[in-house]
Amino acid sequence: MKLVYFFGDSEADGTAEMKELLGGKGANLAEMTSLGIPVPPGFTLTTEVCTEYYKNDRNYPPDLEAQVNDAIARTEAVMGRKFGDAENPLLFSVRSGARISMPGMMETVLNVGLTTKTIPGLIEKSGNPKFVYDAYRRLIMMYADVVMEKAAGVEPKDGIGIRERLEDLIDERKEAKRVDLDTELDGEDWKELAEQFKATVREVLGSEFPDDPHAQMWGGISAVFQSWNGKRAVSYRRIEGIPGDWGTAVNVQSMVFGNMGDDCATGVGFTRNPATGDNHFYGEWLADAQGEDVVAGIRTPNPINKWGRTDKNSELPTLEEEMPEIYSELDGIRSNLEKHYRDMQDIEFTIEGGRLWMLQTRVGKRNGIAAVRMATDMLSEELISKEEALSRVKPSQLDELLHPMVDPAAETDATKLAEGLPAGPGGATGQIVFTADDAEAWAKEGKKVILVRNETSPEDVHGMHAAEAILTAKGGMTSHAALVARGWGKCCVVGCSALNIDSRGKKLTVGDEALNEGDVVTLNGTKGVVYAGELSLTQIDPGENASFRTLMDIADEVRTLGIRTNAERPEDAAQARAFGAQGIGLCRTEHMFFDPERISAMREMIVAENEEARRAAVMKLLPFQRQDFYEILKAMHDFPVTIRLLDPPLHEFVTLTDDQISELADDLGIKREKLSARIDALHELNPMLGHRGCRLGVAYPEITEMQARAIFEATAELTEECVQALPEVMIPLVGAHTEYEHQEAIVRRVADEVKNETGTDFPYLVGTMIANDLTQTTFGFSRDDIGGFLPAYIEGGILPEDPFQSLDQSGVGQLVEMGVEKGRGRNGELKIGICGEHGGDPASIDFCHRTGLDYVSCSPFRVPIARLAAAQAVINN
Ligand code: ADP
Ligand code: MG
Repeated sequence: MKLVYFFGDSEADGTAEMKELLGGKGANLAEMTSLGIPVPPGFTLTTEVCTEYYKNDRNYPPDLEAQVNDAIARTEAVMGRKFGDAENPLLFSVRSGARISMPGMMETVLNVGLTTKTIPGLIEKSGNPKFVYDAYRRLIMMYADVVMEKAAGVEPKDGIGIRERLEDLIDERKEAKRVDLDTELDGEDWKELAEQFKATVREVLGSEFPDDPHAQMWGGISAVFQSWNGKRAVSYRRIEGIPGDWGTAVNVQSMVFGNMGDDCATGVGFTRNPATGDNHFYGEWLADAQGEDVVAGIRTPNPINKWGRTDKNSELPTLEEEMPEIYSELDGIRSNLEKHYRDMQDIEFTIEGGRLWMLQTRVGKRNGIAAVRMATDMLSEELISKEEALSRVKPSQLDELLHPMVDPAAETDATKLAEGLPAGPGGATGQIVFTADDAEAWAKEGKKVILVRNETSPEDVHGMHAAEAILTAKGGMTSHAALVARGWGKCCVVGCSALNIDSRGKKLTVGDEALNEGDVVTLNGTKGVVYAGELSLTQIDPGENASFRTLMDIADEVRTLGIRTNAERPEDAAQARAFGAQGIGLCRTEHMFFDPERISAMREMIVAENEEARRAAVMKLLPFQRQDFYEILKAMHDFPVTIRLLDPPLHEFVTLTDDQISELADDLGIKREKLSARIDALHELNPMLGHRGCRLGVAYPEITEMQARAIFEATAELTEECVQALPEVMIPLVGAHTEYEHQEAIVRRVADEVKNETGTDFPYLVGTMIANDLTQTTFGFSRDDIGGFLPAYIEGGILPEDPFQSLDQSGVGQLVEMGVEKGRGRNGELKIGICGEHGGDPASIDFCHRTGLDYVSCSPFRVPIARLAAAQAVINN
């Protein structure tokens, strides 16, 4: 079995298509190599090695070592250096790479192969002892941290990890020398520090840092495979739904050095701006630095070109100015990669001695605004097709365009605490917490929290996920915090250097202000500003965004499923129309009864003794209801409006305090005891399965009659005003067809009466509908009581997700399919729709498309999401 794939010198065993086998990083390194792009040579151990390793009790396939040695020899031939050689040593990086990028989850060990034997040779070759000892101490630190502590599962002594202990040694030395920056230490410092490091590793971890190149390399490889099942990777996979049996690949690659002097540099970039979608090369770089420095946020990175300029970095040099030839080579690679991959790429590069090397390319993460912009731009650049453009935007990303922003008016008067980099747009407000665990715990209690860290690391992802927003003191636009936040569309401000964070003490100071855990702040992630206290948030108007409109237009061209909205107020109907709704799929009428004036009439009706009294009470509601329907039908003119007749349990109208009962008794002129007894009689053990839905209309036909009359009188009035009103009357919660027929007869009779009385004619429909009640009754779950057991069900894998959020396709879905098939068998014209949460859930929308429904109906703000998801359903099926 081929376990090792070589890449180097324009030839590669693998291709970009082989991501499952080589991981994302390995497959793309191979692809770039074949494209003739300069990539340091090396080789990839496949994901199959990882799965075999776990299958065989953490043992490697017997053939692996020979294949690795072969690949080392090929790499040595390309580089003209030898691994472990005393005179001309070759060094490697050991890099993990799963199928899809899991930012920072897996660890990288750089400078593998530096030993007491190879150090003198490298000093001789480079003439730069400072560089060599700097590289050596980095190797010891990374190796001790990643391989000897984390992958080995060693619990840090006193809760302080080995990396922190070694960093303390650097700080001590800087203090002793009275310097601030790592770069101010010299070769002698690093040499002595490397010795101190090794002694500390021995003392704290109880074993030696290996002085053998092969031991280092295999240690690194094993650490990557181990980290696949490490706590952090497992928790990230759970959040993202990545299967555990995919495994990770390992890339072993020749080292190139960005930290050998002033003609060296390292950087990261995006072929387009990942925050706005602008079609400009966007990136950050540092001279004389090793790759991790840019991402770790230890030094403030420089912009790569003028497009990356902000107020904060206007003094810093761009790569375009400093190394114009290399910049133009890089810019050429940027356009090659975009043309080749036909998508925005996230790249890493290093410049060694004036020579450019590409270390990584992958499809770049982007926020929702950028995703929409890039998809429509690339469509107009003819880089991608209409279908591809639609598939490039996740429905959930549209949420971000519809996301809250800090209200600009509130912002002008607010107390600004600090400024940082705008890493994740939108606004958020919440209580500050200082650890990921606290963020998770507080969020579980229903609190809105903002996670504040010096910088984030993969250990923090669970807390970052739970937080409303993330705030860091260090790091740039490509720091871990920024990448993760953008991937999730979260508000995020990084590099807020004015913050002095005391994580252990759970407090911070900024200027003269001191904040404690639990204090409220507001972030503007679009501008990168932190404010004290809670500011109000507002919604942007996606209608102003041309790319958004284009995307919605092409979604509408492609989709076949209709999209309606759930709305009961004219304002909501207008909002939904602006978002592209083609009608109302659910207009609830119960809220219309809760107005103080109206509810007393309703109560009067409920406690009435006979039909006459009941009718007299309910008819008091007619003018109110007629006005409600008039307004909503008018707001949705030319589009159908499905109006659901009264649905909620009867007793909801008579949940009263003692005082209210006395008051009502007075109003009605009856005895308090009598009223109490009547109310008690309405008490139900299980109201969701009790006297509600069409059962109300059957018991009290006057309600149905009054509502039908209100609807049709409003329709007649609009018809006379030449406004096209299209009411669809929905009988709720029908179980038996006789229930439906009973109610239908009333509705049709009233329609005829109104037509006669007013001398108008108008179209209307009567029917019933698929709603979340089907889920309630299929499972026998009460939606409002599901909170008690659902978390345990999801945790235990009993249900994959909340069946009220995402339609249960195999159970409830079968009933829907049966209903559609049999219903259409009798009436080919039967119009079928679904309403409720499911109507805005992409997976459920896909199901509704496949099942042949006419429309889905969702809340106004989910209408754009539903339009896109319906178009994607066409493309995916
Ligand atoms: P991640 O998946 O976290 O991005 P990488 O494998 O890309 O991890 O490595 C982290 C950093 O190490 C990168 O920024 C890259 O610049 C640097 N690096 C990795 N391999 C090499 C190499 N062969 N030569 C020089 N730098 C390297
Ligand atoms: Mg990387």
